[in-house]
Amino acid sequence: MLTNRPRGVNDLLPGDVERWQFIERTARDVCRRFNVAEIRTPIFEHTELFKRGVGETTDIVEKEMYTFQDRGERSLTLRPEGTASVVRAFVENKLYAQPQPTKMYYIGPMFRYERPQAGRYRQFHQFGVEVLGVNDPSVDAEVIALAMTFFTELGLKDITLEINSVGSPASREAYRHVLREHLAPVKDTLCKDCQSRFDRNPMRILDCKVDRDNEIVANSPYMLDYLTDEDKTHFEQVKSYLDSFGIRYVVNPRMVRGLDYYTQTAFEFMESGSTLSGGGRYNGMVEQLGGPDQPGIGFAVGIERALIALQNQDVQLPIEKGVDVFLVALGEEASKRTVTLLQELRTAGLVADKDYLGKSMKAQMKAADRLNAKQVVILGDDELAQGVANIKDMESGEQVSVPLSELVQKVQQKL
Ligand code: AMP
Repeated sequence: MLTNRPRGVNDLLPGDVERWQFIERTARDVCRRFNVAEIRTPIFEHTELFKRGVGETTDIVEKEMYTFQDRGERSLTLRPEGTASVVRAFVENKLYAQPQPTKMYYIGPMFRYERPQAGRYRQFHQFGVEVLGVNDPSVDAEVIALAMTFFTELGLKDITLEINSVGSPASREAYRHVLREHLAPVKDTLCKDCQSRFDRNPMRILDCKVDRDNEIVANSPYMLDYLTDEDKTHFEQVKSYLDSFGIRYVVNPRMVRGLDYYTQTAFEFMESGSTLSGGGRYNGMVEQLGGPDQPGIGFAVGIERALIALQNQDVQLPIEKGVDVFLVALGEEASKRTVTLLQELRTAGLVADKDYLGKSMKAQMKAADRLNAKQVVILGDDELAQGVANIKDMESGEQVSVPLSELVQKVQQKL
């Protein structure tokens, strides 16, 4: 028990974590260029926020939240996704009162009580972007372009972008009616959840993993055919901007996305049949959470999924490993001197390390090799007495003797 982690969570060990850092670095770098600033919100929020923000009829709220009572008997929930918290922060901190848009991104852990399997965890991580305060279709395209730029700069190829419009509330009202009529004959044969969704939110039935294969469900009418003129125009413009960016997409009229809050544009990025990222517009959410009527659009990428995609595609990541210089000491005095020498090298900006276990020269050279050291400084008691040290270039094998007073500078020159 003590030495086992809970189901569905992972340790990120040295050696793996560098891949995460590369993904996070790329995300921050792309966001900087799109002038999107970082926001950090709490890991837990009032449970009510997610019920309202994510939607009572979603799988997340119905089955997957980590909800607990704190000592003050408040109901709190570990965040299952990022958008509701970002919108809450937008409202609570009155960011809407500033000139719009407000463009923000986040990177961090999310928690859902799902059945763990490859690519599905109970603590997982998302990089997400939210743009609030503007409804212009060019912003939808820009947000999609940001995600695509991120994937491209990770080194991923063959990412499929699927888009759809799930309409505004007006379109959805009309569509829900049509959908109920279509599904009514099979209502009693649907799964229990869908029977209750039938009245509350029939669009969720289209996304149900159990009933998706039901022929009547699979042949449901398309939301796209019931869009208001305004929604239709918005969708056409989003597509036309994507065309002008040279971003390829497939319209998937079946996509409804698992979260209730989407309006108009919805999109997903797929790789090898798995969803890397999902997003869309959520124009009602700010108001729903007690703010003014302000639109919003965003997406979230699963970082674990992005890592799996990078592995699937055999992408070599530009990860710096090893050290610039490794210190090899022979003798007691020399060994002591390397302690301060190490500090001098590090202060000068070099990645430096040494042996701490009093190993033999051969074992120390092996350690230097294992760490991929570019240079090795060899210091014996005799050299120390003469005020010199040897620098060995590990690539060429060339070795030179330099005065200790110039050592840092010489090592720097050789890198
Ligand atoms: P969602 O917030 O459900 O739209 O999910 C956005 C992205 O987060 C998905 O496309 C996945 O890449 C990732 N994701 C969602 N749930 C999980 C999970 N349980 N484990 C790992 N990644 C997840």
